[in-house]
Amino acid sequence: MKLIKEIKEQKELIQTQGRIIKKRDLGKIFFLELSDFTGSIQVVVEKPELLTKLQDLHPETIISLSALVKKSPSDKPELHAQSLEIISAVEEVPDLELQSKEIKENLDTQLKHRAIGLRHKKNKAIFKVQAKILEAYREFMTNLGCTEIFTPLLLASSSEGGAEIFHVDYFEKQATLAQSAQLYKQIMVGVFDRVFGLSKCFRAELSNTRRHLTEGSQLEFEFGYIEGLETILKHEEAALRHILKKVYKDCQVEMQTLKAQELMVPKETFPTYSFKEACQVLTEKFNIDTLEWDDLSTEAEKLLCQYARETYKSDFIFITHIPKGAFYAFRDDNGIIHNVDLLCKEMEISSGGRRIDDYDQLRMSIMAAGMDPKDFSEYLSIFKFGMPAHGGFGLGLERLTMLICNQDNIRQTTLFPSDPKRVASQQL
Ligand code: ATP
Ligand code: MG
Repeated sequence: MKLIKEIKEQKELIQTQGRIIKKRDLGKIFFLELSDFTGSIQVVVEKPELLTKLQDLHPETIISLSALVKKSPSDKPELHAQSLEIISAVEEVPDLELQSKEIKENLDTQLKHRAIGLRHKKNKAIFKVQAKILEAYREFMTNLGCTEIFTPLLLASSSEGGAEIFHVDYFEKQATLAQSAQLYKQIMVGVFDRVFGLSKCFRAELSNTRRHLTEGSQLEFEFGYIEGLETILKHEEAALRHILKKVYKDCQVEMQTLKAQELMVPKETFPTYSFKEACQVLTEKFNIDTLEWDDLSTEAEKLLCQYARETYKSDFIFITHIPKGAFYAFRDDNGIIHNVDLLCKEMEISSGGRRIDDYDQLRMSIMAAGMDPKDFSEYLSIFKFGMPAHGGFGLGLERLTMLICNQDNIRQTTLFPSDPKRVASQQL
């Protein structure tokens, strides 16, 4: 059996198999587009006994055939079927149109039939790009000396505090689903110094926006012996540059299919503004009152991205020292928090920062956030046994995919999205 990309002109019959993508019926002759994961090829079927076999079959049918290879009028190899076997027959029309150039159905309908809809060329392009992002991230982090880790998703108590926690029945007891890998990746810095991973995060937020899921994936990074916040910014920027370079080199066809323009990356380092400086820009350029703010609004994120594009020709901008910080965020002697958000094109795609590395400070910070240090005893214990200055970030994989692939809804860049109305793409 030959893969489609291996098919070249030759004298002997070849055997191949694949999925019929398109069928053109001209009466005494059928043209099929046959595809496998390596590409697609035109098949000409003229023999009457083969035509009868195909008569009532629809695209998506799986066939195997033996054929002669000839040159098509467009100079590409073309198959002329000599014998043909139906391996999996499709006798009905799917609920979604898979052959159309653009996806025609609305998002609700697409998600209702997600299992089939993912076969559309555009959807395949999105998830090919996503896989490339992951490949590039893993490559970059491994080269940096980071060890890949997988952190638990079932937890006894919450990882970040707050109300956005899913509870699950756990035999006679209750467990929660991880909101992030935060505490575990810090624990693992105590083991390996430098770690990374892909982690799931569950957020029980009633956010029906185009950028929130209840089950998301984050590219995680945590790094020991940092010199300061700059170390995190440096590695985050380099990781993103590496991802974009690889995607734009290896996924040209997919980017064209998606009509996605390359994100703008400045020649110099990504523009970096402190929260205070960002607020000044918002006030001076956009006439926004930021006086009471401790975090950026969605609208402010969009405007700052616009500003970065106009001023620095950059789709990326770092905002540092944001007053609203998690309990584990490092504060300096002036009470300034050493954290950072990365904005891209129009929204936040990652949050990170230096972490508290002092046992007593961390214990107090947990209490100040209204939580009980006892619930964090395993995590807290590492700070009694030597922890270097450390920090990292969590970067939303689906949001990054959405921006690279020029999609306007995060559900389009999640295989089986969960949100307040659906679980794994199915409406509740
Ligand atoms: P936002 O303010 O946009 O809701 P967040 O600050 O609550 O995000 P973090 O806890 O900082 O999110 O998570 C780090 C990254 O993970 C975010 O920058 C984002 O890219 C991604 N992320 C967080 N929450 C979600 C979610 N509900 N759905 C999809 N991605 C998410
Ligand atoms: Mg954040």
